[in-house]
Amino acid sequence: MSGYTCKTCGQYHEGLPLSYGSPAPAFVYSLTEKEQRNRVWLSSDQCEVRGEKFFDEKHYFIVGNIHIPIIDSTEIFNWSVWVSLSKENYKRASKLWNKTGREKEPPYFGWLSTSLSAVYPETLNLKTNVHTQPVGIRPFIELEPTDHPLAIEQRNGITMSRVQEIAELVLHPK
Ligand SMILES: [Zn+2]
Repeated sequence: MSGYTCKTCGQYHEGLPLSYGSPAPAFVYSLTEKEQRNRVWLSSDQCEVRGEKFFDEKHYFIVGNIHIPIIDSTEIFNWSVWVSLSKENYKRASKLWNKTGREKEPPYFGWLSTSLSAVYPETLNLKTNVHTQPVGIRPFIELEPTDHPLAIEQRNGITMSRVQEIAELVLHPK
């Protein structure tokens, strides 16, 4: 699909994205620029945030993929999201980052740390299981099977017209 006519603005938008991401966990955006400079370490896949005081526990985040099957297509829709891990699991994931066979890890518990509120009711702090994938592939994020719309969509899949609706909501937030 090369584009779509938008129901929100009536214009034709080039391309229909099947994947969205966020450069940093929501928590980082709640900090001032100065705090971000002093307390945040960020890469494309990992983030560590120091506490306000030097003895505070750090916060640890990694990026994973929420895959949603597209029912009327062979393609898969994807939300790349941040989840927060316990210090122990984050250190473990870091240690295994380039280790062959790391996908044998049991799932880690993670709190969803990306807000998808343009599209869903608040998604922050939804409970997830983080499934380690082979080296080079981001972990697969499995939402707790609640009746939150995002969890329902992950279980049941979505249609191409929902993919278009998501594009409209992301492009023109209310
Ligand atoms: Zn539009």
